[in-house]
Amino acid sequence: MTALPARRKRTARTATSLAEAGLIAKDAIDRVAAVATRYALAVPPALAARIATDAAADPVARQLVPDAAELIDSPDELQDPIGDAAHSPLRGIVHRYPDRVLLQPVSTCAVYCRYCFRREQVGPDAAPLRPAELAAALDYIRSHSGIWEVILSGGDPLVLAPAKLKAIVDALGTIDHVGVIRIHSRVPIATPERVTDALLDSLRSDKAVYLVLHVNHAQELGPDQVTACRRFTDAGIPLLSQSVLLRGVNDDAGTLETLFRTLLRHRIKPYYLHHPDRARGTARFRQPLAQGRALMRALRGRLSGLAQPTYVLDIPGGFGKVPVGPDYLTEAPGGWTVEDPAGGAHVYRDD
Ligand code: SF4
Repeated sequence: MTALPARRKRTARTATSLAEAGLIAKDAIDRVAAVATRYALAVPPALAARIATDAAADPVARQLVPDAAELIDSPDELQDPIGDAAHSPLRGIVHRYPDRVLLQPVSTCAVYCRYCFRREQVGPDAAPLRPAELAAALDYIRSHSGIWEVILSGGDPLVLAPAKLKAIVDALGTIDHVGVIRIHSRVPIATPERVTDALLDSLRSDKAVYLVLHVNHAQELGPDQVTACRRFTDAGIPLLSQSVLLRGVNDDAGTLETLFRTLLRHRIKPYYLHHPDRARGTARFRQPLAQGRALMRALRGRLSGLAQPTYVLDIPGGFGKVPVGPDYLTEAPGGWTVEDPAGGAHVYRDD
């Protein structure tokens, strides 16, 4: 890690540039720099340009601009909320489920989200895997024949130089038991200019390659972002999305409906809506699980199945990810009571 004073200087510069861009008040520079000394800060120009309104009320700014509340830890918040460490047999690998692993070649990102569940692991000072560590991680995948899907995550794997990314994709391409390479990234949204021919070439593989885009609000999808996404689909890489349900950003049915329709219109299948994880200093983004379930229920009748993501919770402590409803079935004598999208109840018998 870089010495803390150097980091302080850098965060002070970044906080000053946010003030110059009108994203924070001048008298907030010191507070923002203090937050950024603890949790990484980056607001790339392409996303700053998507901030449409007064930053204090803007759904994109809220995701990116530090707030002094981040320095307040709630008692139930965790340094590693989804328990990556408990499932990491070696650096760069998280093996939580039998048939898939996370491979994390880097812990840097194009943008640092204020609600990030890995906020204590990611940042510009976080060291990438050294060549020997990457080789060991690939050996691990090679030697575990049950691994069918490799999820490149991080940090953001698409910040890697295309040649490095290609070396990883090519190495995975030689492992017979690997069927799917899934990449989780915010790069097409945060730094669409990085989606180049070289990047797309680096992802060519005989394996099925999927890209899961992290996007939380339709406002993030401007013309540059849409063009970047289109380049993946034109290259034959299917796009899915994952969003986090965030208070003050997208926690109403209309905003989510617009997000999911916009994604689908751009050939991006909504995949997951995550209940926010209990990362430290992120209380301002969380809402009760019941509210998320009510929102998903409201969307059921309004949106086609193609536009519906699965609402999921990563059980704190590393016990895995599960769908958290809403439920439409309750057991009844001899069968079930099924609720329709309008709230009507119907008997369904199994015999
Ligand atoms: S891009 Fe992903 S890993 Fe990086 S800060 Fe945002 S949520 Fe965290």
